[in-house]
Amino acid sequence: MVTARKSTVPYPPDRVPAPPPRQPDPIIHAGQSIKDWLNHYWQKLNLPANELNRLAITQDRQEYMRWTGKRLQSMVLGCYCYLPAPRLPAHTSTRGRKPALTMPLPTFEEALQLHLPSHRHLIFIEPDMQPQSIEVTVAHELIHLADRVNGTPRRHRHHGYDSIAADEAAITGYGLEELRRLLHEESVRREGMRRQRRPIRYLYECPNCGKQYPRTRRYAQAVSCSKCDKTYNSRYRLALRV
Ligand SMILES: [Zn+2]
Ligand SMILES: [Zn+2]
Repeated sequence: MVTARKSTVPYPPDRVPAPPPRQPDPIIHAGQSIKDWLNHYWQKLNLPANELNRLAITQDRQEYMRWTGKRLQSMVLGCYCYLPAPRLPAHTSTRGRKPALTMPLPTFEEALQLHLPSHRHLIFIEPDMQPQSIEVTVAHELIHLADRVNGTPRRHRHHGYDSIAADEAAITGYGLEELRRLLHEESVRREGMRRQRRPIRYLYECPNCGKQYPRTRRYAQAVSCSKCDKTYNSRYRLALRV
């Protein structure tokens, strides 16, 4: 569908990321099984111990969106986000003064380094999944993390069929078919839950081609059929059927 005007933005625009303050230990807002799988796969992937205090995991979508400053689609079952170190303030406002941020001497304690700007690893894991899916999702997101730490981040070409899926199978011992089945089951389940919460109540139809547009809410403004015209066209204005 094409909206008549663009005054409303469908999703909140990206916000400033607000990750949790760093601590000596990783921040894990998640259940015990996630802690266990995290330890297990952190070791299996040979991830360096000094990246641990840059890690934060949550199972709360709202919290994750605050941390990353980005929207998390409701169908997403797991997510890894690499947050680069915030830039040090440039010394433009300092006239002749030395910048306030001087590097600590090597004798400073490790704990003090927690206050220095650093990159972060932010992970979301959907809580409402089968135990096997929780396990493989933790492994999956840690593969993204390992890629980043090794300086070779990969994008998905096809979930469940690409080189990331092959690595996931190798590290977890699950077969590729099994991983695809789990992914499919969780997606179907999640879609069903979403439908339950937001049932389709409205059916719109194009007066020209008859294409139907099921909606959970009414359109707030006039919309026209995108199949008949890419831009808004009042001739193809959608009509409410139910
Ligand atoms: Zn992924
Ligand atoms: Zn149409």
